[in-house]
Amino acid sequence: MKRIMTRSLVLWFVTFAFLAGTVYLGVMTVWHHSEWVQQPFNGHMASANGLGRAGKIYDRNDLVLAYSENDERYYCDGQSTREALLHVLGDESLNISTGIQSRYRTSLSGYNFILGAGIPDSLRPNNDLKLTVDADACRAAYEAMYGKKGACVVYNYQTGAVLCDISTPSYDPADPPEITEENESEYDGVYLDNVVSSTFTPGSTFKIITAAAAIENIPDIYDQTFTCYGSLDVEGNPITCEYAHGTQTFSEAFAHSCNCAFAEIALQVGADKMKETAEQLGFNNDSFSMSEIPIVTSHYDATGAGDNYLAWSGIGQYEDLANPMLMAMISSAVANSGTAAAPYIVEDDGNLINKLNITVNKSRDVEMLSADTASKVKELMKGSAESYAWRGVSLSGLDFCAKTGTAEVGEDKEPTAWFVGFIDDDAYPYAFAAVVVEGGYGIDAASPVVAAAISELVDK
Ligand SMILES: [Zn+2]
Repeated sequence: MKRIMTRSLVLWFVTFAFLAGTVYLGVMTVWHHSEWVQQPFNGHMASANGLGRAGKIYDRNDLVLAYSENDERYYCDGQSTREALLHVLGDESLNISTGIQSRYRTSLSGYNFILGAGIPDSLRPNNDLKLTVDADACRAAYEAMYGKKGACVVYNYQTGAVLCDISTPSYDPADPPEITEENESEYDGVYLDNVVSSTFTPGSTFKIITAAAAIENIPDIYDQTFTCYGSLDVEGNPITCEYAHGTQTFSEAFAHSCNCAFAEIALQVGADKMKETAEQLGFNNDSFSMSEIPIVTSHYDATGAGDNYLAWSGIGQYEDLANPMLMAMISSAVANSGTAAAPYIVEDDGNLINKLNITVNKSRDVEMLSADTASKVKELMKGSAESYAWRGVSLSGLDFCAKTGTAEVGEDKEPTAWFVGFIDDDAYPYAFAAVVVEGGYGIDAASPVVAAAISELVDK
């Protein structure tokens, strides 16, 4: 009797272990299938680092940006266009992890969880991808960087479609360079798409956030005046303007980009409320993405830092770090009654399963501001844009709202130049952010990059 009992227990144990193993294998297969299928020992996928039989990638105008033939990967004509699109597409090295060819390699290779990878070409599901970007706008913005390091993004603030996404430095994916110790400084950060993966000192573009914080937290902000003598002493440390702006209203101080006034405003708002508004506008938040591509976290926090640092933080210095895509999203919220359109870059990935799951390509829009605050910030940005227009900035003659930034990053370095804002026109609902590292003045270095992209988009 005892022996039967033992045998029965062993049998039960073996059965349970078998079932548990089966469930485990099933779960792991669902979880890791796309990773496993890309392993080098899988002959079906191995050529050109998994891209040898990958589908075509189109831009929004159906221009073929990348395609495969005879187990090789090819790119579109025009070296400048290829370099402009390097970070959006990635290349066979897969070093650019946010590139479409890295991120969507499984969809591109035609692999499907149900149908697998080894099925004949004629029976394969469509494995092409259509992107939202405009290759001409990307090329124009890339050329307007004149070899400087930086980024430019333009996206539709109503739909979230990303039209231009360029990052520099870059290289030609059709002829990748060998990066050695001698030339590595030239290619510093080349594998990062600065639009989604980098942060920069925002300088005066951060006054958009400080202004929103003032509107929401200082009831009489529009009744106050701020007198700028060219320098403001905060705890024995001067905050300076290029020249004395004199006595100004809040709106005038924004249009003048007066550091002394905005240092005072940040002090009035206080570190906690400044942080609260910055977080409402997406700072310190790691949950944003562009399609499935994560957007790096932007940072703002001056709590416990003392008044001098709080004052500097309100004018976009101190430890403030802003990501270009987030700055475009904040502009989108200002344009869109407070709601930022979630950016996406993959229009159609040809995958039936993804089609059924519509959230895969588009995350949720982000409510950043009340409609009232958004419309007030919009008026401020319109005021500053009028002064830029007067100084020769034109975005194809369209009405726009914007803020420049000239961020100090060290005594022996030229400032980081920024231009952030949106076109105020329903026919061209484009929000933008451009950053040029060591570019000098935002209005001179960064606005032409945006203007070049917009001009291609408007001409179509
Ligand atoms: Zn001033």
